[in-house]
Amino acid sequence: MTNAEINEIEILRKRGIGYTKIAVITGQAVNAVKSYITRHPVELEDVCLYCGKPLNHTDHKRQKTFCSSVCKNKWWYAHPHMMTKQTLNEYVCPVCGKKFKDYGKRVYCSVGCYAEARRKNNG
Ligand SMILES: [Zn+2]
Ligand SMILES: [Zn+2]
Repeated sequence: MTNAEINEIEILRKRGIGYTKIAVITGQAVNAVKSYITRHPVELEDVCLYCGKPLNHTDHKRQKTFCSSVCKNKWWYAHPHMMTKQTLNEYVCPVCGKKFKDYGKRVYCSVGCYAEARRKNNG
């Protein structure tokens, strides 16, 4: 593991995140995270999820995760796989011309149109 990876594991651990989730976030093997945490225990602390700076809770609003919006943006940029809300792309079906939205890359609006396109291409 690199220093940056170790640093990230320690930040996540300080925030009380379990090793299974840390493994998902960092992309490390669960066993590697688990053995590192077991060997290097840390005290729970409210730190910025990106830079690891302690967060001051002067305002009694909801719990903060990042010290700044800069850190927040950087963290999400570094962890696109953690986005639960993906952006919807808009496509136009080349078979029926219907507009549709999808998360991934899709060409046809439906299985029917996909079959139709294949049938046309083959004949
Ligand atoms: Zn920060
Ligand atoms: Zn269609």
